[in-house]
Amino acid sequence: MQKTKTLPVRELLMPLPKHIEEKDGVFRLHHGTTISYDPHFLEVAKLATEQLLCNLGGEDILFKFQEELNEEAYHLKVSKNQIVIKAGTKSGAFCALQTLRQIALANDNLIPCCLIQDEPLYSWRGFMLDCSRHFFSPTFIKKLIDAAALHHLNRFHWHLTDDQGWRLPITGYEKLITVGSFRTELNYTETTRYGGSYTEDEIRDIQEYAHTRCMLVIPEIETPGHASALLASYPNLGCTKGPYEVQDRWGIFEEVMCAGNDEVLTFLQTAIHQISTLFTDPYIHIGGDECPHTAWQRCPACQKRMKDEGLDSAKQLQSWMTSKICKMVEAEGKRPIGWDEVLEGTEKLSLPSSLIVMSWRGEQGGIEASNLGHEVIMSPNTAGCYFDYKHLDSFDEPGNIGVTTLEKTAEFSPVSPSMDDQAKEKILGGQGNLWTELVTSARSAEYLLFPRLSLLSERLWNPQDLESFETRRTSLEKKLTLLDIQHYKGKSH
Ligand SMILES: [Zn+2]
Repeated sequence: MQKTKTLPVRELLMPLPKHIEEKDGVFRLHHGTTISYDPHFLEVAKLATEQLLCNLGGEDILFKFQEELNEEAYHLKVSKNQIVIKAGTKSGAFCALQTLRQIALANDNLIPCCLIQDEPLYSWRGFMLDCSRHFFSPTFIKKLIDAAALHHLNRFHWHLTDDQGWRLPITGYEKLITVGSFRTELNYTETTRYGGSYTEDEIRDIQEYAHTRCMLVIPEIETPGHASALLASYPNLGCTKGPYEVQDRWGIFEEVMCAGNDEVLTFLQTAIHQISTLFTDPYIHIGGDECPHTAWQRCPACQKRMKDEGLDSAKQLQSWMTSKICKMVEAEGKRPIGWDEVLEGTEKLSLPSSLIVMSWRGEQGGIEASNLGHEVIMSPNTAGCYFDYKHLDSFDEPGNIGVTTLEKTAEFSPVSPSMDDQAKEKILGGQGNLWTELVTSARSAEYLLFPRLSLLSERLWNPQDLESFETRRTSLEKKLTLLDIQHYKGKSH
Protein backbone atom coordinates (compact mmCIF):
# COMPACT_ATOMS: atom_id res chain seq x y z
CA MET A 1 0.00 0.00 0.00
CA GLN A 2 1.22 3.49 -0.83
CA LYS A 3 2.15 5.66 2.09
CA THR A 4 0.35 9.02 2.37
CA LYS A 5 2.82 11.84 2.79
CA THR A 6 1.68 14.52 5.21
CA LEU A 7 3.30 17.22 7.27
CA PRO A 8 4.08 16.28 10.87
CA VAL A 9 1.40 17.25 13.38
CA ARG A 10 3.69 19.82 15.01
CA GLU A 11 3.66 21.85 11.79
CA LEU A 12 -0.12 21.96 11.62
CA LEU A 13 -1.04 23.44 15.00
CA MET A 14 -1.17 26.85 16.63
CA PRO A 15 -0.92 27.02 19.60
CA LEU A 16 1.48 24.11 19.73
CA PRO A 17 0.43 21.43 22.22
CA LYS A 18 2.59 20.78 25.25
CA HIS A 19 3.50 17.24 24.27
CA ILE A 20 3.31 15.57 20.84
CA GLU A 21 4.48 12.11 19.87
CA GLU A 22 4.36 11.60 16.09
CA LYS A 23 3.44 8.08 14.84
CA ASP A 24 3.27 6.42 11.42
CA GLY A 25 0.09 6.42 9.38
CA VAL A 26 -2.97 8.63 9.06
CA PHE A 27 -6.63 8.64 10.04
CA ARG A 28 -8.84 9.76 7.15
CA LEU A 29 -11.70 11.98 8.22
CA HIS A 30 -14.72 11.80 5.87
CA HIS A 31 -18.49 12.21 5.75
CA GLY A 32 -19.01 8.66 7.00
CA THR A 33 -16.83 9.12 10.12
CA THR A 34 -18.83 8.46 13.29
CA ILE A 35 -18.62 9.87 16.82
CA SER A 36 -19.49 8.41 20.24
CA TYR A 37 -19.27 10.18 23.55
CA ASP A 38 -19.46 9.92 27.28
CA PRO A 39 -22.63 11.77 28.49
CA HIS A 40 -20.40 14.55 29.95
CA PHE A 41 -19.52 15.55 26.41
CA LEU A 42 -22.87 15.56 24.62
CA GLU A 43 -22.63 19.24 23.65
CA VAL A 44 -19.03 18.98 22.41
CA ALA A 45 -19.86 15.84 20.41
CA LYS A 46 -22.76 17.63 18.73
CA LEU A 47 -20.48 20.53 17.84
CA ALA A 48 -17.96 18.01 16.52
CA THR A 49 -20.52 16.70 14.02
CA GLU A 50 -20.89 20.27 12.67
CA GLN A 51 -17.22 21.21 12.70
CA LEU A 52 -15.80 17.94 11.38
CA LEU A 53 -18.84 17.09 9.20
CA CYS A 54 -19.33 13.67 10.85
CA ASN A 55 -22.28 11.79 12.38
CA LEU A 56 -23.13 10.54 15.84
CA GLY A 57 -23.31 6.77 16.10
CA GLY A 58 -20.23 4.59 15.72
CA GLU A 59 -16.88 4.82 17.45
CA ASP A 60 -14.46 6.21 14.85
CA ILE A 61 -14.00 9.20 17.13
CA LEU A 62 -14.56 8.53 20.80
CA PHE A 63 -14.91 11.13 23.58
CA LYS A 64 -14.00 9.51 26.91
CA PHE A 65 -14.32 10.94 30.41
CA GLN A 66 -11.16 10.88 32.51
CA GLU A 67 -11.84 12.57 35.80
CA GLU A 68 -8.27 13.29 36.90
CA LEU A 69 -7.46 15.52 33.92
CA ASN A 70 -7.34 19.28 34.75
CA GLU A 71 -9.70 21.95 33.48
CA GLU A 72 -8.97 22.46 29.73
CA ALA A 73 -6.48 19.55 29.65
CA TYR A 74 -6.94 16.71 27.18
CA HIS A 75 -5.33 13.64 25.69
CA LEU A 76 -5.77 12.95 21.98
CA LYS A 77 -4.70 9.62 20.50
CA VAL A 78 -4.93 9.24 16.75
CA SER A 79 -4.43 5.81 15.23
CA LYS A 80 -5.31 4.66 11.69
CA ASN A 81 -8.75 3.35 12.63
CA GLN A 82 -9.76 5.41 15.63
CA ILE A 83 -9.35 8.73 17.41
CA VAL A 84 -9.72 8.69 21.19
CA ILE A 85 -10.15 11.94 23.12
CA LYS A 86 -9.90 11.94 26.91
CA ALA A 87 -10.86 14.89 29.08
CA GLY A 88 -12.12 15.58 32.59
CA THR A 89 -14.17 18.67 31.67
CA LYS A 90 -16.25 19.98 28.78
CA SER A 91 -13.56 22.61 28.10
CA GLY A 92 -10.88 19.91 27.86
CA ALA A 93 -12.94 17.93 25.35
CA PHE A 94 -13.64 21.14 23.45
CA CYS A 95 -9.92 22.03 23.24
CA ALA A 96 -9.21 18.54 21.90
CA LEU A 97 -11.89 19.03 19.25
CA GLN A 98 -10.30 22.33 18.18
CA THR A 99 -6.89 20.68 17.89
CA LEU A 100 -8.43 18.01 15.70
CA ARG A 101 -10.26 20.64 13.65
CA GLN A 102 -7.03 22.59 13.10
CA ILE A 103 -5.27 19.49 11.81
CA ALA A 104 -8.20 18.63 9.53
CA LEU A 105 -8.29 22.17 8.09
CA ALA A 106 -4.54 22.40 7.58
CA ASN A 107 -4.08 18.90 6.17
CA ASP A 108 -7.09 18.19 3.93
CA ASN A 109 -8.85 15.98 6.49
CA LEU A 110 -5.84 13.65 6.91
CA ILE A 111 -5.03 13.34 10.60
CA PRO A 112 -1.49 12.02 11.10
CA CYS A 113 -1.30 9.33 13.78
CA CYS A 114 -0.02 10.82 17.00
CA LEU A 115 -0.37 11.09 20.74
CA ILE A 116 -1.01 14.56 22.17
CA GLN A 117 -1.13 15.52 25.85
CA ASP A 118 -2.01 19.11 26.33
CA GLU A 119 -3.01 21.80 28.80
CA PRO A 120 -2.66 25.59 29.01
CA LEU A 121 -0.11 27.66 30.86
CA TYR A 122 -2.56 30.52 31.70
CA SER A 123 -6.26 30.43 32.51
CA TRP A 124 -7.11 33.88 31.06
CA ARG A 125 -6.57 33.90 27.31
CA GLY A 126 -8.62 36.76 25.95
CA PHE A 127 -9.40 39.14 23.16
CA MET A 128 -11.26 42.44 23.21
CA LEU A 129 -13.38 43.95 20.46
CA ASP A 130 -14.37 47.62 20.67
CA CYS A 131 -17.93 47.80 19.31
CA SER A 132 -18.46 51.46 20.26
CA ARG A 133 -16.06 53.30 17.95
CA HIS A 134 -17.40 51.13 15.16
CA PHE A 135 -20.33 48.80 15.32
CA PHE A 136 -19.88 45.13 14.37
CA SER A 137 -22.69 42.75 13.50
CA PRO A 138 -23.62 39.74 15.66
CA THR A 139 -22.71 37.52 12.70
CA PHE A 140 -19.19 38.91 12.61
CA ILE A 141 -18.79 38.71 16.39
CA LYS A 142 -19.70 35.01 16.25
CA LYS A 143 -17.21 34.45 13.44
CA LEU A 144 -14.49 36.01 15.61
CA ILE A 145 -15.48 34.01 18.68
CA ASP A 146 -15.26 30.82 16.63
CA ALA A 147 -11.85 31.75 15.20
CA ALA A 148 -10.55 32.69 18.65
CA ALA A 149 -11.86 29.45 20.16
CA LEU A 150 -10.12 27.50 17.41
CA HIS A 151 -6.91 28.93 18.93
CA HIS A 152 -7.93 27.89 22.46
CA LEU A 153 -8.73 31.45 23.50
CA ASN A 154 -11.39 31.47 26.20
CA ARG A 155 -12.38 35.07 27.07
CA PHE A 156 -14.30 37.55 24.91
CA HIS A 157 -14.11 41.06 26.35
CA TRP A 158 -16.88 43.07 24.71
CA HIS A 159 -16.34 46.87 24.84
CA LEU A 160 -19.93 48.10 24.62
CA THR A 161 -19.92 51.77 25.64
CA ASP A 162 -17.74 54.78 24.91
CA ASP A 163 -17.88 58.40 23.77
CA GLN A 164 -18.87 57.36 20.26
CA GLY A 165 -21.80 55.08 21.00
CA TRP A 166 -23.74 53.14 23.66
CA ARG A 167 -24.54 49.69 22.35
CA LEU A 168 -26.73 47.79 24.83
CA PRO A 169 -30.24 48.39 26.19
CA ILE A 170 -30.87 49.37 29.82
CA THR A 171 -34.56 49.29 30.76
CA GLY A 172 -35.70 52.64 32.13
CA TYR A 173 -32.98 54.45 30.17
CA GLU A 174 -34.34 54.01 26.65
CA LYS A 175 -32.58 57.11 25.30
CA LEU A 176 -29.30 55.21 25.49
CA ILE A 177 -30.53 53.45 22.35
CA THR A 178 -32.63 56.15 20.67
CA VAL A 179 -29.99 58.87 21.25
CA GLY A 180 -26.78 57.29 22.60
CA SER A 181 -26.28 54.58 20.02
CA PHE A 182 -26.09 57.00 17.05
CA ARG A 183 -23.70 59.75 16.12
CA THR A 184 -23.65 62.36 13.38
CA GLU A 185 -20.53 61.95 11.31
CA LEU A 186 -19.47 65.58 10.94
CA ASN A 187 -16.12 64.47 9.57
CA TYR A 188 -17.74 63.40 6.33
CA THR A 189 -21.16 64.97 5.87
CA GLU A 190 -23.55 66.66 8.26
CA THR A 191 -26.31 64.18 7.60
CA THR A 192 -24.70 60.79 8.00
CA ARG A 193 -26.08 59.01 11.03
CA TYR A 194 -23.83 56.18 12.16
CA GLY A 195 -24.52 53.64 14.86
CA GLY A 196 -26.36 50.58 16.08
CA SER A 197 -26.94 48.53 19.18
CA TYR A 198 -27.49 44.93 20.25
CA THR A 199 -30.85 43.71 21.48
CA GLU A 200 -31.06 41.53 24.59
CA ASP A 201 -31.89 38.56 22.34
CA GLU A 202 -28.81 39.19 20.19
CA ILE A 203 -26.64 39.45 23.31
CA ARG A 204 -28.06 36.19 24.69
CA ASP A 205 -27.54 34.50 21.35
CA ILE A 206 -23.90 35.63 21.12
CA GLN A 207 -23.34 34.50 24.69
CA GLU A 208 -24.80 31.08 24.02
CA TYR A 209 -22.63 30.74 20.92
CA ALA A 210 -19.56 31.63 23.00
CA HIS A 211 -20.51 29.24 25.81
CA THR A 212 -20.87 26.37 23.33
CA ARG A 213 -17.23 27.15 22.53
CA CYS A 214 -16.19 27.26 26.20
CA MET A 215 -15.61 31.00 26.02
CA LEU A 216 -16.73 33.43 28.71
CA VAL A 217 -18.16 36.82 27.73
CA ILE A 218 -17.07 39.90 29.69
CA PRO A 219 -19.16 43.02 29.03
CA GLU A 220 -17.50 46.39 29.57
CA ILE A 221 -19.30 49.59 30.45
CA GLU A 222 -16.96 52.55 30.74
CA THR A 223 -17.02 54.49 34.04
CA PRO A 224 -16.66 57.34 34.89
CA GLY A 225 -14.99 58.67 31.70
CA HIS A 226 -15.53 57.92 28.01
CA ALA A 227 -19.15 58.76 28.77
CA SER A 228 -20.26 61.16 25.98
CA ALA A 229 -22.87 58.74 24.58
CA LEU A 230 -24.40 58.36 28.06
CA LEU A 231 -24.36 62.12 28.72
CA ALA A 232 -25.85 62.94 25.30
CA SER A 233 -28.76 60.65 26.25
CA TYR A 234 -29.08 61.86 29.87
CA PRO A 235 -27.43 65.31 30.24
CA ASN A 236 -28.40 65.48 33.93
CA LEU A 237 -25.69 62.86 34.62
CA GLY A 238 -22.88 65.28 33.61
CA CYS A 239 -21.38 68.08 35.70
CA THR A 240 -22.54 70.97 33.44
CA LYS A 241 -25.87 69.29 32.50
CA GLY A 242 -25.02 69.63 28.80
CA PRO A 243 -25.98 69.75 26.09
CA TYR A 244 -23.65 66.94 25.06
CA GLU A 245 -23.21 65.01 21.83
CA VAL A 246 -22.30 61.47 20.94
CA GLN A 247 -18.79 62.10 19.64
CA ASP A 248 -17.73 61.59 16.06
CA ARG A 249 -14.08 62.34 16.83
CA TRP A 250 -11.61 60.14 18.69
CA GLY A 251 -9.71 60.90 21.86
CA ILE A 252 -10.37 61.79 25.46
CA PHE A 253 -13.23 64.14 26.35
CA GLU A 254 -13.48 66.39 29.39
CA GLU A 255 -17.14 65.80 30.14
CA VAL A 256 -17.51 62.66 32.29
CA MET A 257 -20.08 61.26 34.73
CA CYS A 258 -20.62 63.71 37.62
CA ALA A 259 -19.15 62.16 40.77
CA GLY A 260 -21.21 64.47 42.99
CA ASN A 261 -24.61 63.53 41.60
CA ASP A 262 -26.43 60.62 43.29
CA GLU A 263 -28.47 60.09 40.11
CA VAL A 264 -25.26 58.83 38.50
CA LEU A 265 -24.94 56.19 41.21
CA THR A 266 -28.59 55.26 40.77
CA PHE A 267 -28.04 54.86 37.02
CA LEU A 268 -24.92 52.73 37.56
CA GLN A 269 -26.69 50.56 40.12
CA THR A 270 -29.54 49.93 37.67
CA ALA A 271 -27.23 49.31 34.70
CA ILE A 272 -24.97 46.93 36.66
CA HIS A 273 -27.96 45.02 37.98
CA GLN A 274 -29.41 44.54 34.51
CA ILE A 275 -26.06 43.70 32.93
CA SER A 276 -25.43 41.14 35.68
CA THR A 277 -28.69 39.43 34.80
CA LEU A 278 -28.24 39.57 31.03
CA PHE A 279 -24.61 38.42 31.10
CA THR A 280 -24.30 35.16 32.99
CA ASP A 281 -20.50 34.86 33.35
CA PRO A 282 -18.65 35.91 36.52
CA TYR A 283 -16.99 39.16 35.36
CA ILE A 284 -17.99 42.75 34.56
CA HIS A 285 -15.44 45.24 33.22
CA ILE A 286 -16.02 48.72 34.64
CA GLY A 287 -13.52 50.67 32.50
CA GLY A 288 -11.86 53.34 34.61
CA ASP A 289 -9.34 54.52 32.02
CA GLU A 290 -8.56 57.95 30.60
CA CYS A 291 -10.89 60.00 32.80
CA PRO A 292 -9.99 63.73 32.87
CA HIS A 293 -10.91 65.55 36.06
CA THR A 294 -11.30 69.04 34.57
CA ALA A 295 -15.10 69.09 34.87
CA TRP A 296 -14.97 67.77 38.45
CA GLN A 297 -12.62 70.62 39.48
CA ARG A 298 -15.22 73.17 38.37
CA CYS A 299 -18.33 71.34 39.55
CA PRO A 300 -19.84 72.39 42.93
CA ALA A 301 -21.45 68.95 43.39
CA CYS A 302 -18.15 67.12 42.80
CA GLN A 303 -16.31 69.55 45.11
CA LYS A 304 -18.93 69.00 47.78
CA ARG A 305 -18.58 65.23 47.43
CA MET A 306 -14.82 65.53 47.95
CA LYS A 307 -15.32 67.64 51.05
CA ASP A 308 -18.01 65.34 52.49
CA GLU A 309 -15.89 62.24 51.91
CA GLY A 310 -12.67 63.87 53.13
CA LEU A 311 -10.89 63.44 49.81
CA ASP A 312 -7.84 65.54 48.88
CA SER A 313 -7.74 65.20 45.11
CA ALA A 314 -9.81 64.45 42.01
CA LYS A 315 -7.86 61.22 41.64
CA GLN A 316 -9.09 60.17 45.06
CA LEU A 317 -12.61 61.10 43.99
CA GLN A 318 -12.31 58.78 41.01
CA SER A 319 -11.05 56.05 43.31
CA TRP A 320 -14.03 56.67 45.62
CA MET A 321 -16.32 56.18 42.64
CA THR A 322 -14.46 53.06 41.46
CA SER A 323 -14.83 51.62 44.92
CA LYS A 324 -18.61 52.27 44.90
CA ILE A 325 -18.96 50.67 41.46
CA CYS A 326 -16.89 47.63 42.50
CA LYS A 327 -19.21 47.14 45.45
CA MET A 328 -22.24 47.28 43.13
CA VAL A 329 -20.66 44.57 40.96
CA GLU A 330 -19.79 42.46 44.01
CA ALA A 331 -23.35 42.80 45.32
CA GLU A 332 -24.51 41.10 42.12
CA GLY A 333 -22.15 38.21 42.84
CA LYS A 334 -19.66 39.17 40.11
CA ARG A 335 -15.99 40.16 39.93
CA PRO A 336 -15.13 43.69 38.73
CA ILE A 337 -12.28 44.30 36.25
CA GLY A 338 -10.76 47.74 35.63
CA TRP A 339 -8.07 49.30 33.44
CA ASP A 340 -4.86 50.04 35.33
CA GLU A 341 -5.77 53.70 36.04
CA VAL A 342 -7.97 52.31 38.85
CA LEU A 343 -4.80 52.04 40.94
CA GLU A 344 -4.44 55.84 41.06
CA GLY A 345 -5.69 57.94 43.98
CA THR A 346 -5.97 54.99 46.33
CA GLU A 347 -3.96 56.56 49.18
CA LYS A 348 -7.04 56.95 51.39
CA LEU A 349 -9.42 54.31 50.08
CA SER A 350 -7.97 51.01 49.08
CA LEU A 351 -9.88 49.14 46.40
CA PRO A 352 -11.73 45.89 47.08
CA SER A 353 -9.38 42.95 46.71
CA SER A 354 -11.83 41.27 44.32
CA LEU A 355 -11.00 43.90 41.67
CA ILE A 356 -8.98 42.45 38.80
CA VAL A 357 -6.62 44.92 37.13
CA MET A 358 -6.10 44.92 33.38
CA SER A 359 -2.67 46.37 32.69
CA TRP A 360 -2.63 48.26 29.37
CA ARG A 361 -0.18 51.19 29.73
CA GLY A 362 2.80 48.88 29.68
CA GLU A 363 3.40 46.31 32.39
CA GLN A 364 3.93 48.61 35.37
CA GLY A 365 0.27 48.77 36.38
CA GLY A 366 0.08 44.99 36.40
CA ILE A 367 3.25 44.67 38.45
CA GLU A 368 2.00 47.24 40.95
CA ALA A 369 -1.45 45.62 41.17
CA SER A 370 -0.03 42.15 41.70
CA ASN A 371 2.16 43.52 44.51
CA LEU A 372 -1.00 44.95 46.09
CA GLY A 373 -2.59 41.51 45.94
CA HIS A 374 -4.98 42.08 43.01
CA GLU A 375 -5.32 39.50 40.29
CA VAL A 376 -4.04 40.81 36.99
CA ILE A 377 -4.63 40.41 33.26
CA MET A 378 -1.73 41.64 31.16
CA SER A 379 -2.57 43.48 27.99
CA PRO A 380 0.27 45.98 27.54
CA ASN A 381 0.14 48.28 24.51
CA THR A 382 3.95 48.33 24.63
CA ALA A 383 4.46 44.57 24.41
CA GLY A 384 2.54 43.16 21.49
CA CYS A 385 -1.05 43.12 22.78
CA TYR A 386 -2.54 46.12 20.91
CA PHE A 387 -3.85 44.95 17.58
CA ASP A 388 -5.22 48.31 16.41
CA TYR A 389 -1.56 49.27 15.87
CA LYS A 390 0.00 48.79 12.44
CA HIS A 391 1.70 45.49 11.61
CA LEU A 392 4.68 47.44 10.25
CA ASP A 393 6.10 50.94 10.58
CA SER A 394 4.97 51.90 7.09
CA PHE A 395 2.78 54.68 5.72
CA ASP A 396 1.04 52.16 3.47
CA GLU A 397 0.03 49.85 6.31
CA PRO A 398 -3.47 50.27 7.78
CA GLY A 399 -3.88 50.69 11.52
CA ASN A 400 -3.64 53.17 14.34
CA ILE A 401 -0.53 55.10 15.43
CA GLY A 402 1.92 52.63 16.94
CA VAL A 403 3.39 49.38 15.69
CA THR A 404 2.90 45.83 16.94
CA THR A 405 5.05 43.56 14.78
CA LEU A 406 4.49 39.80 14.73
CA GLU A 407 7.88 39.53 16.42
CA LYS A 408 6.72 41.73 19.28
CA THR A 409 3.63 39.60 19.89
CA ALA A 410 5.76 36.46 19.61
CA GLU A 411 7.89 37.77 22.51
CA PHE A 412 4.99 38.69 24.81
CA SER A 413 4.86 37.19 28.26
CA PRO A 414 2.25 38.10 30.90
CA VAL A 415 4.87 37.60 33.58
CA SER A 416 7.69 40.10 34.00
CA PRO A 417 11.17 39.11 35.28
CA SER A 418 10.87 41.86 37.89
CA MET A 419 7.95 40.10 39.62
CA ASP A 420 8.54 37.95 42.65
CA ASP A 421 6.87 34.54 42.92
CA GLN A 422 3.96 35.88 44.96
CA ALA A 423 3.23 38.55 42.35
CA LYS A 424 3.54 36.03 39.51
CA GLU A 425 0.83 33.90 41.07
CA LYS A 426 -1.59 36.81 40.67
CA ILE A 427 -1.20 36.91 36.88
CA LEU A 428 -4.23 35.22 35.35
CA GLY A 429 -2.97 35.55 31.80
CA GLY A 430 -3.16 38.00 28.94
CA GLN A 431 -5.32 39.54 26.30
CA GLY A 432 -5.12 41.14 22.84
CA ASN A 433 -7.17 44.30 22.27
CA LEU A 434 -8.69 45.65 19.09
CA TRP A 435 -9.74 49.28 19.44
CA THR A 436 -11.67 50.31 16.38
CA GLU A 437 -11.35 54.08 15.86
CA LEU A 438 -9.85 53.38 12.45
CA VAL A 439 -11.40 49.97 11.87
CA THR A 440 -14.50 50.63 9.82
CA SER A 441 -15.26 47.10 8.57
CA ALA A 442 -15.22 43.49 9.66
CA ARG A 443 -12.65 42.72 6.97
CA SER A 444 -10.18 45.27 8.30
CA ALA A 445 -10.75 43.99 11.85
CA GLU A 446 -9.74 40.50 10.69
CA TYR A 447 -6.66 41.84 8.91
CA LEU A 448 -5.48 43.59 12.08
CA LEU A 449 -6.27 40.63 14.35
CA PHE A 450 -4.61 37.85 12.39
CA PRO A 451 -2.11 36.35 12.64
CA ARG A 452 -1.25 38.38 15.76
CA LEU A 453 -4.12 36.87 17.72
CA SER A 454 -2.88 33.39 16.72
CA LEU A 455 0.60 34.28 18.01
CA LEU A 456 -0.81 35.65 21.25
CA SER A 457 -2.86 32.50 21.81
CA GLU A 458 0.34 30.48 21.72
CA ARG A 459 2.15 32.78 24.16
CA LEU A 460 -0.68 32.14 26.63
CA TRP A 461 -1.05 28.40 25.99
CA ASN A 462 2.42 27.01 25.41
CA PRO A 463 4.94 29.74 24.48
CA GLN A 464 7.02 29.23 21.33
CA ASP A 465 9.24 31.72 19.49
CA LEU A 466 8.93 33.54 16.16
CA GLU A 467 11.15 31.01 14.36
CA SER A 468 8.80 28.21 15.35
CA PHE A 469 5.86 30.31 14.15
CA GLU A 470 7.49 30.79 10.74
CA THR A 471 7.64 27.01 10.23
CA ARG A 472 3.86 26.90 10.77
CA ARG A 473 2.84 30.13 9.10
CA THR A 474 1.82 28.50 5.79
CA SER A 475 -0.44 25.98 7.51
CA LEU A 476 -1.92 28.72 9.71
CA GLU A 477 -2.65 30.87 6.64
CA LYS A 478 -4.30 27.88 4.97
CA LYS A 479 -6.64 27.45 7.96
CA LEU A 480 -7.49 31.18 8.07
CA THR A 481 -8.18 31.20 4.33
CA LEU A 482 -10.48 28.18 4.61
CA LEU A 483 -12.42 30.01 7.32
CA ASP A 484 -12.59 33.11 5.08
CA ILE A 485 -10.56 35.23 7.52
CA GLN A 486 -8.47 38.11 6.16
CA HIS A 487 -4.93 38.20 7.53
CA TYR A 488 -1.68 40.08 7.23
CA LYS A 489 0.87 38.25 5.10
CA GLY A 490 3.88 40.60 5.31
CA LYS A 491 7.15 40.75 7.23
CA SER A 492 7.35 39.71 10.86
CA HIS A 493 9.57 42.58 12.06
ZN1 LIG B 1 -19.76 66.97 38.95
